Amino acid sequence: MSAQARAALVSKLIFQDETQKSDLLDESKTQTSLIAYLLGLVDKGYHIEITAVRTDHDDDSALGLHCHANGYAVDCWPLNSATPGDYMTQDTHPFRQFLVDAASSPWNFQIGLGGCADNSGDAIAAGSTEFPDNGADHIHLGSSGS
Ligand SMILES: [Zn+2]
Repeated sequence: MSAQARAALVSKLIFQDETQKSDLLDESKTQTSLIAYLLGLVDKGYHIEITAVRTDHDDDSALGLHCHANGYAVDCWPLNSATPGDYMTQDTHPFRQFLVDAASSPWNFQIGLGGCADNSGDAIAAGSTEFPDNGADHIHLGSSGS
């Protein structure tokens, strides 16, 4: 994925921490499959607030290849608008559609649902790669590739 594609992506995301942006701009920190995964979602018109990428995430390398520590994953939450903090409500139609679209991405490896997102309606929307995640309210998007 080109540097231009990474720059285009970060210009459309909302970040809680500057390291999230620099990690996504750095091909040594994040995988091209993750950039493609997120670009596909922002190109569908989603506003996404990133809650963790790599530098600001605990070392999860025990979970295997497709983890934050190896640059394959972000934690995030979809927004109703481009306004930071304008969070979609879990288990509503727009929120479930976000999960359906993430699950249908060719770059999806797994989707984790944490906190209030860990409910049966959202789990169905997230499909066969869904897992109940630990921690605060978030959606974990793990990308494919090797
Ligand atoms: Zn995660």
